[in-house]
Amino acid sequence: MNSSLPNNQKGVLSRRHFLYLAGAGSLAFLVGCASSPVTGRPQLMLVSEEREIEVDRENSPHQISADYGRVQDDALNDYVASVGSEIAKQSHRPDMPYSYNVLNASYVNAYAFPAGTIGVSRGILLNMNSEAELASLIGHEVGHVSARHTAQRMSQGILTSVALTGLVVAAEPEWEQVVGGLGSIGAGALLASYSRNQEREADKLGLQYMAEAGYSPRGYVGLMEMLKEMSHKKKSFLQVLFSTHPMSRERYKTAVERADEYSKRNKPVYRERYMDNTASLRRIREAIEEMQEGNERMANGEPEKAREHYAKALKTAPEDYAANLKMAKCQIALEKPAKARKYSRAAREIYPEEPQAHHVLGITYIQLEKYEQALQQFNAYKEKLPGNPNTVFFQGYSLEAMDRKSRAAEKYHSYLEKVNRGKYAEHAHKKLKEWGYI
Ligand SMILES: [Zn+2]
Repeated sequence: MNSSLPNNQKGVLSRRHFLYLAGAGSLAFLVGCASSPVTGRPQLMLVSEEREIEVDRENSPHQISADYGRVQDDALNDYVASVGSEIAKQSHRPDMPYSYNVLNASYVNAYAFPAGTIGVSRGILLNMNSEAELASLIGHEVGHVSARHTAQRMSQGILTSVALTGLVVAAEPEWEQVVGGLGSIGAGALLASYSRNQEREADKLGLQYMAEAGYSPRGYVGLMEMLKEMSHKKKSFLQVLFSTHPMSRERYKTAVERADEYSKRNKPVYRERYMDNTASLRRIREAIEEMQEGNERMANGEPEKAREHYAKALKTAPEDYAANLKMAKCQIALEKPAKARKYSRAAREIYPEEPQAHHVLGITYIQLEKYEQALQQFNAYKEKLPGNPNTVFFQGYSLEAMDRKSRAAEKYHSYLEKVNRGKYAEHAHKKLKEWGYI
């Protein structure tokens, strides 16, 4: 369902073009009643594939950056991508622009954007035991893509495309979120939270894809067991995973039963291959677990305790981008901007392509009341990752502090075009009024 015209027809109102325009109404109808790529049955679908791709492209880079970017370990990224592409080949939408990203984030999570941008955190990789489990996890995510679950939610109005970008900043801007740079971007807010039916369907598809790709279905059971075990722990770093992919006893049971049907075929789980390919993560397991504990403390409003955990993480992995950046955010929360500057600079040097360090450094400079430097960092961030309204707000804020009102007003104005509630929006609105712009 392509709404753009072939090149050779541009500017010429050909017969085909005319028919195309005349048919636009029925085209919309067709989109509205698209059939499910998985079941072939009609499904309410007001979102075109192009729109899915657009939503993915607009949002996934922000989420990936909020997760501290892709790991700087090509071998690990390539390994996960090779498993993923074998799974996608078996899927109902093999031609979507899939990409597989091992995320620096330490929390336990995995997600899929509607066109196939898939993220798998270091935290979840550390908790799996075989390639078949990884294939199951990716299979599940590819299942969401194949069955067009996000698009379905958007069509039902549960999730609007506006919400997808809007929610990036719409939640209350708590201090940590401010420091986080991407505001309240979190997979939970940005991604669809799937219904139980969708979850069931993704499980079914995931199992089918991984089995067809040649893995033992025991891997799926292993994944379910891991998730079930985790769902009992009430840790905040698990909440995101379970808020997007609700886990239940029934989900587990169904998966085990289905796996039984497949397991007559005697296929391997590739445990050793998985362990070899993820060895680099296990070498810094302690650091990742300390980061998880630190995050837990930050979420509980105990930055002093969090600092101890991040310090331990940095002892094990001094060159870790996420560990440095988390420590920087913690120091900001402790109102120690000079230390925060040290860690965010270190992070920026470790991973110059990843934009989040610029944001954190920018906030650090605001705390230091060095607004020109702050502005430079926000500008650098925006150059690497445009489209984050938070950056625009902080550009405005830095300009305001330097008394460059008209430039600040421009920024505040464009911020308000995207976000209309929350503390920042109030601040921007108040200033614009004060300065006589509205
Ligand atoms: Zn799911």
